[in-house]
Amino acid sequence: MKTNIVFDFIRQLSSKSLVPKVCIVGAGPAGFYAAQQIIKVSGDAQIDILERLPVPYGLVRYGVAPDHPEVKNVITTFNKTAKHPRVQFLGNINVGHDVSVQKLRENYDAVLLSYGAEQDRLLNIPGENLGNVISGRNFVGWYNGLPWARDLKINLDQEEAVIIGQGNVAIDIARILLSPVDKLKTTDITSYSLEQLSRSKVRKVWLVGRRGPLQTAFTTAELREITKLEKCKTLWRSEDFTGIRAILPNLARPRRRLSELMLQSLEHSSFDETRHVKELRPIFLRSPIEFTGSDSLKSVKFAINKLEGGDLLKQRAEATQDFEEIPCGLALRSIGYKSVPIDQTVPFDSKSGRIVNSSGKVDETLYAAGWVATGPTGVILTTMNNAFQIGGLIAKEIKINEAKNGWVGLKEILDKKGVQVVHYEDWEKIDKEEIERGKAVGKPREKIVNISEMLEIASKSSN
Ligand code: FAD
Ligand code: NAP
Repeated sequence: MKTNIVFDFIRQLSSKSLVPKVCIVGAGPAGFYAAQQIIKVSGDAQIDILERLPVPYGLVRYGVAPDHPEVKNVITTFNKTAKHPRVQFLGNINVGHDVSVQKLRENYDAVLLSYGAEQDRLLNIPGENLGNVISGRNFVGWYNGLPWARDLKINLDQEEAVIIGQGNVAIDIARILLSPVDKLKTTDITSYSLEQLSRSKVRKVWLVGRRGPLQTAFTTAELREITKLEKCKTLWRSEDFTGIRAILPNLARPRRRLSELMLQSLEHSSFDETRHVKELRPIFLRSPIEFTGSDSLKSVKFAINKLEGGDLLKQRAEATQDFEEIPCGLALRSIGYKSVPIDQTVPFDSKSGRIVNSSGKVDETLYAAGWVATGPTGVILTTMNNAFQIGGLIAKEIKINEAKNGWVGLKEILDKKGVQVVHYEDWEKIDKEEIERGKAVGKPREKIVNISEMLEIASKSSN
């Protein structure tokens, strides 16, 4: 077993030796896959993966929906990487706050920034701060146990909800709101959200896109799953599909399959009161212009759009003079995530919300990978390919100009600040505790949501 003391000793010995030292910021898929590639390509590089939270895996833990456990199988691979003798996971280190990127660069031969996209995009329209107008990212964090989303104020005592955006996150949110709660209670969804969802009155969910059926961002498997939800009917507006059938033969296969699926579902679009209790209502060509209400939300007002531009799949939405208002007591904004700068020495393009980089390279020894480099789109596989490429580049380019202190130097900085570092063995104690708590209630795990509690468990001696 790789105990902290033995590991520190080995690192101490090699701190002044000519072993390349890489620091990775962020323990999500990009960080783990880049580390995997670096150890594969380089025979001797040592890697420290720094993570803000005491727990690893980024959006695999805090984004991926609880009813999609198979997606989380990637954790097995991350686990192998974390346990590799040349890799060290160091949790509970907030880079930009506990240590600057500049200090990391002084202590490591190369630094890779892979800290994801932790905020969400805003609509910047009136009423966005009204009660029960909720950030989709916070809602996802709430049901997935993200510590700072624990106290989300959401009132599910409403019959109708509007989701703005038609990506896969919007589909996840709709599915969680529309699923029979019995389907969720054997997942790792947090118990407090399950309790609130079990009392939810939401029965109709509008899934609103600003463009048309040919431009949706959700994908076929995710749409198919939601159209098959138990006791729930997906009801489309037939006028949204005028002319679509004729275009089908011109579409590339993935888009054609998705469009065919929507058309098939439209053909069976009727609500049967004996079988259905909930409704999903996808609608198109609507841009939100105002959330109305005084204290709490009463409706969302939309501009009716038309599509402009020659290339069908890239057509833009242009507002007409017409409007539609949808009464609802809950609205969720799901229009994409956004990265933030964490250190002023790192070039950051606030417009695109990305670290300025060219194929992952920021400068001689600074790199970026994953959503913070590419923008907040792409599935785990896309992030993996990007991280493999940049990990390979780092392994190829890394040069040792002078012996760097690596972890030994970083530890000095963190000790002075009194930061409690969580090693992988400490995370495993948290993991074990979560699994045990889950077992007691028939779930694969009950996530611990309080950071102090995580740190307390992490610091217990293992016997
Ligand atoms: P992240 O996963 O966000 O990891 C970044 C890590 O950096 C986090 O652990 C974060 O805590 C850490 N960090 C942030 N700031 C700091 C700091 N200052 N110091 C140290 N560490 C820091 N893809 C699929 O294939 N299937 C799915 O079902 C799926 N579901 C998704 C559901 C949601 C709601 C979302 C948003 C995405 C989903 N994805 C899914 C996409 C997938 O999650 C991403 O492709 C992937 O997580 C991006 O990886 P990343 O490492 O760039 O970012
Ligand atoms: P996304 O795929 O980029 O979708 C964002 C949606 O918001 C689009 O419909 C977009 O419409 C809309 N939008 C953006 N700005 C808007 C505005 N100002 N007004 C109205 N609508 C606006 O983002 P996401 O859903 O956050 O997903 C992020 C990534 O994670 C995606 O690659 C997704 O596939 C992945 N993911 C995968 C899964 C899965 O595999 N099961 C689950 C969740 C997430 P336009 O197209 O018109 O811009």
